[in-house]
Amino acid sequence: MTKTLIENGKVYDAESHTFQKRNVLIDGNRIVSIDNNRGNADVTFDATDVLVTPGLIDLHCHIFNHPEQPSRLPADRIGTGQGVTCLLDTGSTGGDTLDEFRELVVESQKTHTFALCNIGSPGKHGLQSGHAAKPELVSIEKTVRAIERNRDYTLGVKVLASSSHTGLMGIEAVKMARKAAEITGTPLMAHIGNAPPVIDDILDLLRPGDIVTHAYHGKAGGVLGFDNKVIPAFKAAVERGVHVDIAHGRSSFSFRTCETALEQGMPVHSISSDLHRGNIEVCVLSLARTMSKFRLLGLSLEDIVLATTYTPACAVGLDEHGFGKLEVGGTANVSLIRETEKAVEVEDADGERRTTQTWIEPVGCIVDGSYFRTEEPI
Ligand SMILES: [Zn+2]
Repeated sequence: MTKTLIENGKVYDAESHTFQKRNVLIDGNRIVSIDNNRGNADVTFDATDVLVTPGLIDLHCHIFNHPEQPSRLPADRIGTGQGVTCLLDTGSTGGDTLDEFRELVVESQKTHTFALCNIGSPGKHGLQSGHAAKPELVSIEKTVRAIERNRDYTLGVKVLASSSHTGLMGIEAVKMARKAAEITGTPLMAHIGNAPPVIDDILDLLRPGDIVTHAYHGKAGGVLGFDNKVIPAFKAAVERGVHVDIAHGRSSFSFRTCETALEQGMPVHSISSDLHRGNIEVCVLSLARTMSKFRLLGLSLEDIVLATTYTPACAVGLDEHGFGKLEVGGTANVSLIRETEKAVEVEDADGERRTTQTWIEPVGCIVDGSYFRTEEPI
């Protein structure tokens, strides 16, 4: 087996929440040491000026690569191709289509891939949205059975709780999704957007460990209320342990909403992209670019790495399978990123432009011991 040494990198340690200069020795697909020794390696990677982090996890994206799926995007393009080792598809499949995720994604891609099962099943391919508006496609039974059949890669339930998706089903779709999550013992991820259903009703249904995604969108009726104060329902959800996920997307992340919420003590638990075919070329482009936007909002590099590694891993139980941390004896899933003083004009989903002072870009990643170099950093 090949021994690989990543030498002189600044290695992120989740326990101490710091970067420390260390060497990481990998034997086959295992990390065998993280210390200052050099050991005997067959291949040495000079990581001077490189940040060595646990494999990056994108907790919200769309990678169901069915030929007729509108949001079709091969996982490896935004995974191993962009320095990200683990992707969670959030509801591109439902009870009728989740089985196909195995062959089309899990077994055909190098990136680690997992899924959430949409309570509103697409039913057939090519149906882009609005599944949860069609009562015949919203099924607790089908969702639960599909999750049970595919436990190895299905980590929870997704509901698109906004008017363009739930239609007349409204809050009932959220209730049914919550029930399916309860039966399967998995978390529910609730997408928020335009009402109905109204945000307070959605948040009140979420339990500790559930996830609110697109949390800081800029539409009226979001987490900010009158006078830009965070609404009580959101505060209460955060206090009882609901996970706050970003999911930038093309219409779901606002600098102003996010910074206003941060000023009032609200958290960013996970930074995710919501990448799909429609925003890979515009606005979002990559998880690393999304991470850079949070440097602009004042988050530390350590906090940003935590929000793309250990915290998202814990949100969907992947920490129990060794994701999110670099540990001696653990599987070698590692990301290599670089931060430079580079000014890049970026935009949020509302079209507001700001210019970065520091810029995070991927160098490459290691998945189960195999190295993937990022060809074109974005
Ligand atoms: Zn999405």
